[in-house]
Amino acid sequence: MYHLRPPRRGEALARKSLTQKVAVIGAGLAGLSCSSYLRRAGCFVEVFEQERIIGGRVATARNGLVAFDSGAQYLTARSDKFRSYINELVSSGYAARWDPKTTSGETKGVQLHTWYVGTPGMSSIVRPLAESILVHTGKKVHTLKPTDKGWTIWFEDQTSAGPFAAVAVTVPAPAARLLLGRVEGMVETLSRVRMVPTWSVMVRLAERTLPDQDVYSDMSEVLRWIARNSSKPGRNVSGGGETVVIHASPSWSRETEDADPEAVAEEIWGEVTRQLGLPAVTPQQISAYLWRHGLVEQSLGESFIYSSHYKVGAAGDWCLGRLAEHAYESGQGLGKAIVSSLI
Ligand SMILES: Cc1cc2nc3c(=O)[nH]c(=O)nc-3n(C[C@H](O)[C@H](O)[C@H](O)COP(=O)(O)OP(=O)(O)OC[C@H]3O[C@@H](n4cnc5c(N)ncnc54)[C@H](O)[C@@H]3O)c2cc1C
Repeated sequence: MYHLRPPRRGEALARKSLTQKVAVIGAGLAGLSCSSYLRRAGCFVEVFEQERIIGGRVATARNGLVAFDSGAQYLTARSDKFRSYINELVSSGYAARWDPKTTSGETKGVQLHTWYVGTPGMSSIVRPLAESILVHTGKKVHTLKPTDKGWTIWFEDQTSAGPFAAVAVTVPAPAARLLLGRVEGMVETLSRVRMVPTWSVMVRLAERTLPDQDVYSDMSEVLRWIARNSSKPGRNVSGGGETVVIHASPSWSRETEDADPEAVAEEIWGEVTRQLGLPAVTPQQISAYLWRHGLVEQSLGESFIYSSHYKVGAAGDWCLGRLAEHAYESGQGLGKAIVSSLI
């Protein structure tokens, strides 16, 4: 057991590590954006991700031969930095513009920002960031331990890695609280953030079934979002038909977060059928997935958290807002702070 506190007067500050190895926990957009900043600055970066795949909530879920964007649906860019990253993605074929029909027969023309999607799936968005970075998947971090040589990371499988000169924790705030709970002041800061669960239901239909419109939002107290996934560029369904992704509302997801996914999928599809007045069709495939820390309800209002004394910090969408672009910017900000503290 350890507890980190600020240094007392006259006490030596944590010894500057000889190595510039930096660990990043989480291979979502924030973690990979942070990693690519660190890598460009000359640090040796190792990323540890609990899942077998990278991308986090920017996800492409495969169900047999069919792929669905189960998390983030599209990207927008308000900042120049993220816009220039999206432009790079588009010019290298990792992303494309999406102009869904929002009202019957019309192409969306009223959106404030252009919508972009990863191609062939949303997870392509993170791929360029992971180039030349050592990413260890299937490694769930359990504990961070400070030693006199730097940080040691312990995993759930009881193996460890390190020492690292600095650590970036880029997981959702409730998970970050578990890892940074013993660093003075961080629990209080992280507790200000609130995240809510979101059910994502993925449906494959043998025939085109949804009305002409490609996206619907806030249809009822249960449904937050319905999208014809196959209307996005590069997502044609072989043999015809269409794919649909549905997100339940945060309040309904919270009430049902312990429910059986099969029952959730059935109930959500029934609600879509009612709300859109669809014929009673049985989907060829249907499944539900719960994003336990899906959407940010209350963000921190700061770009990232970092202790230059302990050389540990946190980043994620929850720092600045609730969007992928917030995750990207937060990761860059934390990367910059780490580099400044290691010089
Ligand atoms: C249903 C849904 C719809 C959305 N729609 C949109 C949208 O249309 N547009 C938009 O801009 N944004 C959207 N978002 C939000 C967007 O997906 C997020 O803002 C963004 O992906 C967050 O990135 P992140 O890196 O901060 O977190 P995450 O993507 O959650 O990445 C964190 C990573 O850390 C890993 N991890 C967690 N704990 C550990 C541990 N202990 N050890 C190791 N690894 C760990 C996780 O597996 C994950 O890969 C949506 C999100 C959801 C859930």
